[in-house]
Formats: sequence, C-alpha cells, structure tokens
Amino acid sequence: VTSNGFLLEARNIVMQFGGLKALNDVNLQIKKGSVHGLIGPNGSGKSTTMNVLTGIYSPTAGEIEFNGKIITGTTPSSIAGEGIARTFQNVQLFGEMTAIENVLVGLHHTFRHSLIDVVFQTPRCRKEKNSAEVRAASLLQFVGLADLANEEARNLPYGKQRLLEIARALALNPSLLLLDEPAAGLTAPDIKELISMIEKIRSHGITVILIEHHMDVVMSICDTVTVLDFGQKIAEGTPAAVQSDEKVIEAYLGG
Ligand code: ADP
Ligand code: MG
Repeated sequence: VTSNGFLLEARNIVMQFGGLKALNDVNLQIKKGSVHGLIGPNGSGKSTTMNVLTGIYSPTAGEIEFNGKIITGTTPSSIAGEGIARTFQNVQLFGEMTAIENVLVGLHHTFRHSLIDVVFQTPRCRKEKNSAEVRAASLLQFVGLADLANEEARNLPYGKQRLLEIARALALNPSLLLLDEPAAGLTAPDIKELISMIEKIRSHGITVILIEHHMDVVMSICDTVTVLDFGQKIAEGTPAAVQSDEKVIEAYLGG
C-alpha cells in the first residue's frame, strides 16, 4: 500500500497533448480490494487516465504511487511487472491465435527461463511451458471459456472475446486490474456474465478500476465512483451519491 494506506494513489496528474490538457490536476485514491468506477462523458479523460496509470503515457506532471513505489515515468512492462494489468477500450486480441494461445501470450511475462533455457529446451524450460499451459487452461476456465480453448480468437462471439481479454490480463497475476469499457457492445446476458465475472475477480482479492458507460453496471458493482469532465475530477463518492450530484447530471446533459 501507499504511504496513505491506498493500493494506488495518483497525485496532481496533468497530461497535456499539445494545447489540450486531457487531464488537469487529477487526484485518485484506490482502496485495496475495491471496485472503483471511473465515469464521465466522452473525451473527459478516462482512457487517458488508464494510459497514464499503465505507463503508456508519461504524465506531464504529477506522481503515481502503487504499492508503496513511485511508478511514474517507468515503462509499461515494468508497471505490468509490478502488478497492474489492463484491457483496452477496443478488443486487442491476436485474432488468428487460439484462445489459449492468447492467454499464453499474457503469461509470457511471468516466465523465468533465459534464452539458453529456450534454445536448449532445458528441463526448467519444459517444466515452465507445461505449467504455463496448465495455468492458461485454468484462467480460461475461470472466465468460462474452457470449452473454447482451441478456437481462434476472431471466431469467438464478441462477448467471449471480452472475457478472453480479461483472462489474458489476469495471466499477469495482477493485484490491480484496469478495465476500459468492458461492457461496450455487449448484450444484456453478456453484461450479466461480465458483472459476475468482475465480482469473482474482486473476491480473489484483486482490486479493479472500471471505466464504464453503462450506469447499471457501475451502480451494481462499484464501491466508489470518480467522475471526470474535461480532464478534471468533478465528483467522487458512492454510486448513488454521484448519480444524484448536480455537477454530474449537468456534465452528462450538457455534453
Ligand atoms: P475518454 O476515454 O474519457 O472518452 P480520452 O481519455 O480518450 O477520453 O480522451 C481525452 C481527451 O484527450 C480527448 O479530447 C482526446 O481527443 C484527447 N486525447 C487522448 N489521447 C490523445 C493523444 N494521444 N493525442 C492527442 N489527444 C489525445
Ligand atoms: Mg475512453
């Protein structure tokens, strides 16, 4: 945890793109074990927040502390190694690879073997490969895709592709999982499945930051919600409190 007792703390984050401040002095405090919602109208800075937290963008100003370490300015792969995993607003799978191969890609970061192990197929390398396959299979089972392990990702229904992305992110063994609009484009039954999936993930002790447009999803699973508008935090609190906040209503109606 951070010096203030949070799993993650982002302090005074500014993200400037040319003349545009996509994030303007944003502070975030994420409680360990929570599902933290991040909402706001289109273009309010939600995905940019995720990109800053995962090191895809280095913020113009501000500091991010995760698990007691300052991670600002480090690389995406080192941040992933610290335990922050994510999915993207648009599905990003390897379409021609099977479901299980996509999860194995996610697991690759956790392999310990060196190039020598790989080239000479040492026992350690073989052992790790087998255990990676076992672990990938169990992750597919966790998200309910065990039966589809050998299907090409592009042939899976869209809702299943979303779940596969989550399985791949979980392969990193994260303590924090960032989901960018996971319910976008899903059918009502798929959304129900997604909600129970997020609850299951939380029950395994993984903290979740959830960007979501579907207010029913946010209302049903988030403990705390932060609302962004034009790159600034305009409200924060329980889902019920922010939903009836006048600034929030105005931001959505005015947008
Ligand atoms: P949201 O996810 O809330 O819809 P974004 O974080 O994607 O919003 O975008 C916030 C603002 O930052 C938008 O005005 C967007 O056009 C701008 N923006 C995002 N990424 C970039 C970028 N790489 N270069 C320039 N502008 C960007
Ligand atoms: Mg977005």
